[in-house]
Amino acid sequence: MRTIAHWIDGKPFEGTGPATAPVTNPATGVVTGQVALADTADVRVAVAAAAAAFPGWRDTSLSRRTQILFRFRELLSERREKLAALITAEHGKVTPDALGEVTRGLEVVEFACGIPHLLKGGFTENASTKVDIFSIRQPLGPVAIISPFNFPAMVPMWFFPVAIAAGNTVVLKPSEKDPSASLWLARLWTEAGLPDGVFNVVQGAKAAVDGLLDDPDIKAVSFVGSTPVARYVYERGTAAGKRVQALGGAKNHMVVLPDADLDLAADAAVNAGFGSAGERCMAISVVVAVGEVADALVSRITERARTIRTGDGTRGTDMGPLVTREHRDRVVGYVAKGEAEGARVVLDGRGVEPDGAADGFWLGPTILDHVRPEMSVYTDEIFGPVLSIVRTTSYEEALALINANPYGNGTAIFTNDGGAARRFHTEVEVGMVGINVPIPVPMAYYSFGGWKSSLFGDSHAHGSDGVHFYTRTKAVTTRWLDPSHGGLNLGFPQND
Ligand code: NAD
Repeated sequence: MRTIAHWIDGKPFEGTGPATAPVTNPATGVVTGQVALADTADVRVAVAAAAAAFPGWRDTSLSRRTQILFRFRELLSERREKLAALITAEHGKVTPDALGEVTRGLEVVEFACGIPHLLKGGFTENASTKVDIFSIRQPLGPVAIISPFNFPAMVPMWFFPVAIAAGNTVVLKPSEKDPSASLWLARLWTEAGLPDGVFNVVQGAKAAVDGLLDDPDIKAVSFVGSTPVARYVYERGTAAGKRVQALGGAKNHMVVLPDADLDLAADAAVNAGFGSAGERCMAISVVVAVGEVADALVSRITERARTIRTGDGTRGTDMGPLVTREHRDRVVGYVAKGEAEGARVVLDGRGVEPDGAADGFWLGPTILDHVRPEMSVYTDEIFGPVLSIVRTTSYEEALALINANPYGNGTAIFTNDGGAARRFHTEVEVGMVGINVPIPVPMAYYSFGGWKSSLFGDSHAHGSDGVHFYTRTKAVTTRWLDPSHGGLNLGFPQND
């Protein structure tokens, strides 16, 4: 049985504790490895390596840092198929989707290659007589990244390229469900020439996370996962005096107005609802059909969803399995609950015949119509291939529904009315908005993040927010070539 270890100071580290967890191929149900679960002592080893590497990396010139980043970018681009295959083997998503994940991570690496420009400070000449002021942005120290199962490569890459480029050192704690991508990325960094100890990986679960949150050498924490854990990480991390950004769960609504192109909207709902088996934080889980559009829209969505081929992601199918048996069973449970609460199951994925092994964690595309806001299929994040349809009579009702929802990650509106679209993006209380775009994931040079219970903290990921999060500002006031400094004066400095 393959053992999936930690990566500390440029090499694998087995860990000191005996705890492990099984890693499974979701398309076969077969256990393919045992991942080490770090305890506090293991976390300390990783953080100590990151702390020891920090001064050297902080002082490494920007040209040298960017050379390493460019090399990492080249290696990642050349070998993206290898990383995608690893993702599919442990997460289950289909090969083109895994490749898409790698590409979106690569975009952040490319953004971080521009770090010399991003770190430029300000300079004011002669602010007071012969007094100049300049500001610089400096790295924080060792930072922790804690990531979820659903994007084992992309989510860590939302953060570590920017953190490393800015001069920090990193301890990544990936999801214990699909840990291999993180080790592959760690080896790639070493090959790209990153000094040992700048990028470390600790495998594990809650104990590893707590170890990072409590370690005084960790200066900042970037977390992505479910809302209850995000809230916990934010509260415990900030109580320990750390800078924390904690991205949480989602319930993303797609509004379809009566004037929308229904074919475009139906394609979008299916792609965004069932891509990656609904296990995306930007997946559409609720379609809000406004006015008389509902019947025609539901029949078009259902027609298309029926054609999706569910199966092993390596076999050219459209949609893979769910990540674990427990998660599949939980999602199936929601379909039954929705039915019992009065929703109409217009497409039932429970009887799906997959192109894959009998023991895979399958659930086919499922559509629930006539969902109401008080039903558990509406209130809870399901995180599976279950699309709910809520019918409203007006735009105002649709907007009020979204704004009353505790989550605020992504949303979309489908319409041909520019005025309505503008009103929507102004009025909606959600961090990322698509107009005729169902999954509005911002490019790396913008920042990614939700509002309300979808993000705790005030910094989104990557873009200018990422650079700010991983650096702190220093303002330096200087006086040179001025021997007549005015002598003794105990008054507060004033400018002249
Ligand atoms: P999760 O919250 O179960 O786990 C996330 C991370 O936290 C993992 O590394 C896990 O090991 C750790 N963890 C789990 N329980 C913990 C606990 N009690 N204490 C401390 N650490 C703990 O999330 P998941 O199931 O891996 O991922 C799916 C969730 O992530 C969904 O809710 C999804 O919406 C969310 N997500 C959000 C975004 C976003 O950008 N907002 C992006 C991707 C995923």
